[in-house]
Amino acid sequence: LVAVDGVNKFYGDFQALKDIDLDIPAGQVVILIGPSGSGKSTLCRTINRLETIQSGTISIDGKPLPAEGKDLAALRADVGMVFQSFNLFAHKTILENVTLGPIKVKGVKKADAEAEARRLLDRVGVGAQADKLPAQLSGGQQQRVAIARALAMKPKVMLFDEPTSALDPEMIKEVLDVMVELAESGMTMIVVTHEMGFARTAGNRVVFMSDGEIVEDTDPETFFTNPQSARAQDFLSKIL
Ligand code: ATP
Ligand code: MG
Repeated sequence: LVAVDGVNKFYGDFQALKDIDLDIPAGQVVILIGPSGSGKSTLCRTINRLETIQSGTISIDGKPLPAEGKDLAALRADVGMVFQSFNLFAHKTILENVTLGPIKVKGVKKADAEAEARRLLDRVGVGAQADKLPAQLSGGQQQRVAIARALAMKPKVMLFDEPTSALDPEMIKEVLDVMVELAESGMTMIVVTHEMGFARTAGNRVVFMSDGEIVEDTDPETFFTNPQSARAQDFLSKIL
């Protein structure tokens, strides 16, 4: 479903991604981990073209990523993204936050967008908050709204870049529970996370990056119990 082939990405002279190859079949939940600065966020951002690449190709569901234009808007709709900071529109209600994309980008009728938004808000457990402003919600609730907002665009793949890192400990589980439910529903997901419990239980695959390269690509059990590379062993010795 997601095909990343020979991708190289530079910031000026600095090479942030080195010859990345990654094929993700539909329904797979890929945990992307590695030390700070290894290129995890950069890889996520290249997959929805928030960043340009210098060489290689990326395609979603067989469609190559266009560099720009209206095809790009359609493509971005195929790739949902949830960040560490929730990035909700502060002056719009929760319901408006979720309906804006479908109405503006996909041309969905307002009533239909609202019905779908309420269904999604219920699914992530914040249906009762629909008419509030983001600042009236807890961090965990805001992040669940951000997930509902991404899902409202009917994405084919969801990218999560450290979705729980900015949350207080007691709110982490409520967001992870939503992500587990999404994984179980068959969503294709790429998740950058330090939540090793989630990685082991919800992940089907671990991709370990270091210095802009994919160093290991294996199943979670193998990665956590028997990492092959010195870099992965060193990383795990620091976090486990
Ligand atoms: P973290 O775990 O800290 O989030 P990461 O694995 O997500 O790290 P990236 O944010 O992808 O790492 O950064 C990879 C490398 O690219 C880092 O060395 C970073 O300094 C560099 N980098 C990222 N964004 C830019 C930018 N806009 N301009 C220049 N260099 C950048
Ligand atoms: Mg990052």
